[in-house]
Amino acid sequence: MNTHPAIVVYGSINIDMIVEAAHLPRPGETVLGNDFRMSCGGKGANQAVAAAKAGADVAFIGRIGQDGFGGRALESLSKVGIDTSRIGIDPTSHTGVALISVAPSGENQITVSSGANAFLSKTDIRRSAPALAQARIALAQLEIPLSAVCEAAMLAAENGIPFILNPAPAFALPRDLLELTSFITPNESECEILTGIRPDSKSALGKAAEQLMAQGVKGVLITLGKRGTYFATAERHLLIEAFPVQARDTTGAGDTFNGAFAVALADGLAPEEAIRFANAAAALSVTRTGTHDAAPLRSEIQSHLAKASPQTA
Ligand code: AMP
Repeated sequence: MNTHPAIVVYGSINIDMIVEAAHLPRPGETVLGNDFRMSCGGKGANQAVAAAKAGADVAFIGRIGQDGFGGRALESLSKVGIDTSRIGIDPTSHTGVALISVAPSGENQITVSSGANAFLSKTDIRRSAPALAQARIALAQLEIPLSAVCEAAMLAAENGIPFILNPAPAFALPRDLLELTSFITPNESECEILTGIRPDSKSALGKAAEQLMAQGVKGVLITLGKRGTYFATAERHLLIEAFPVQARDTTGAGDTFNGAFAVALADGLAPEEAIRFANAAAALSVTRTGTHDAAPLRSEIQSHLAKASPQTA
């Protein structure tokens, strides 16, 4: 029997190929790099792993190619207990890849080829209905086709399940989708792309959140890096502060935040408490390098929460 809250994640899965180099190549230049590593990435996979490590039963809905990279990607998800049985294998495309060069300053250059991720269809989403029927929360990002995201939102609504949309990468979204969105979780730059408002003051944050709610979203979470998360619903607006930590690598903080937020909501916490849980998980993740490895375990999040209690303002 399932003892953990169940979450369905609809999203992208990539293989990241990372080369460290003395400097980033200029156009036409070949740079001989240093270390090379390969890891599983894609916002969907990152958020699913963060949710699984934070204690949920996670089913992942996505697409890979019929190639070695696909096998490697499946292995990364299975390793943390994610149900990969509904990941489609696309005979006509390749597993998504991200080619990443990193300079000593941490500056990077990334080229993504979405491959099979771009072919996740409405039919694939409908096939996830049995998983969603047992779930408490659905979570999606925007690295898969918008038609698939809209279908997932519709399916979640049909099942009476909250739908969390992490609008990354951001672009103007149809009202139909926003009306089906229980919580939207943009970071500052995504918030500006979605609303045209730079969220650089409390009043600007308030206006941006109001604008998203006027389009039908029920709850808005604007993540503000080390400042924490601005949370707004029709009833209230509040800033939920981040946990102070010595950050080493902030890559993937947003993914850990979204995965952990979904888990805490599925656990039955109120949104403010779920945001505290997610802030704690993301704070721990920025103290570590990598993405899947950096996402903390449930026990680590709970002991961090027990040690520190930031204030709300
Ligand atoms: P971001 O995508 O940068 O807005 O970060 C997502 C979430 O990660 C934030 O809402 C914070 O909870 C957490 N976070 C990011 N950067 C830091 C940091 N330097 N220190 C503590 N928490 C952080």
